[in-house]
This record gives sequence, structure tokens and C-alpha cells, in this order.
Amino acid sequence: MILVSSCLGGIECRYNGSHAASEKIRKLIEEKQAVMACPELLGGFSTPREPAEIIGGTGEDVLNGCAKIITSSGENVTDLYMKGAAQTLAYAKTINASAVILKENSPSCGSNFIYNGSFSGKKIAGNGVTAALLKQAGYRVISENQLDDIL
Ligand code: SF4
Repeated sequence: MILVSSCLGGIECRYNGSHAASEKIRKLIEEKQAVMACPELLGGFSTPREPAEIIGGTGEDVLNGCAKIITSSGENVTDLYMKGAAQTLAYAKTINASAVILKENSPSCGSNFIYNGSFSGKKIAGNGVTAALLKQAGYRVISENQLDDIL
């Protein structure tokens, strides 16, 4: 079973209430080859919510306590992101996930790129906090831009 970001499956759970549906991922869900999870909703957020970015590093740095996640108005929401990552890892274990496909650029789900913490649209190489935790646990994590690697 493949674990996918809920927004890639068409759920309107992004911070601004939109989705990021991928027809290939929707097909995987319809064929019961994939199930969805949204780390930020699992962490306790609702939709819509303020955008947030990792300040001072990457998802690994957040896990190590060396960086934090801040909303655009300055609220420290690191704990909710950490909780969402842990809940997503628990779900991956429950379904015995063979691979994980996460939405690129998110402070939770990015697996190659994340925003740089300046809220200016600039990206840096790195994982979001959920992608980092899943990778540390040994899961194969890719983004929607790498579907051809596994399909
Ligand atoms: S946390 Fe992940 S699944 Fe949820 S909306 Fe953001 S990118 Fe999509």
C-alpha cells in the first residue's frame, strides 16, 4: 500500500483550502493501491490556516530542535507539525506502506524542496518535517514530480 498526501488525492486540505490533485494519484486511490493522509490535519490544524515555513533549516533540523516552523504572522507552530509528522509515521506503519508520495515544497510534505522561511516564494533543497521523519524511519519518500520512478 502506498501512502499519499491527501491534497494530491484531491482533498481540499491545503492551507488556503485548495487541493493539488494528480490524476495518477487519484487512480491509485481508486484502485485501492494508495491511501491518503494530511500531516497538518493529523497534527491538529484545520483548513484554511495560515501559511507556515521552516525557519533556520530543514525538516531534519526541526526534528533535532535546531529549527522551528513559524506562520506568516509569527506564531510558532512547530509542536503541531511535529505531532502531524509522528501521526503520519504511525499511519505509515499501520498500513505497512511500501512507498510514500508527498506534495513537494510543503513544510510538512516537501521531499526535495521547501520554502526558505522568508515567505517570499524562494525555495531551498530539503525535506519538510514529515518527509524527514519518514525517511529517517526508512520509508521511500518521493514527490508527485517523481511518480514515474515507481509507477
Ligand atoms: S500537509 Fe501535506 S497533505 Fe496536508 S495539505 Fe499540506 S502538502 Fe497536502
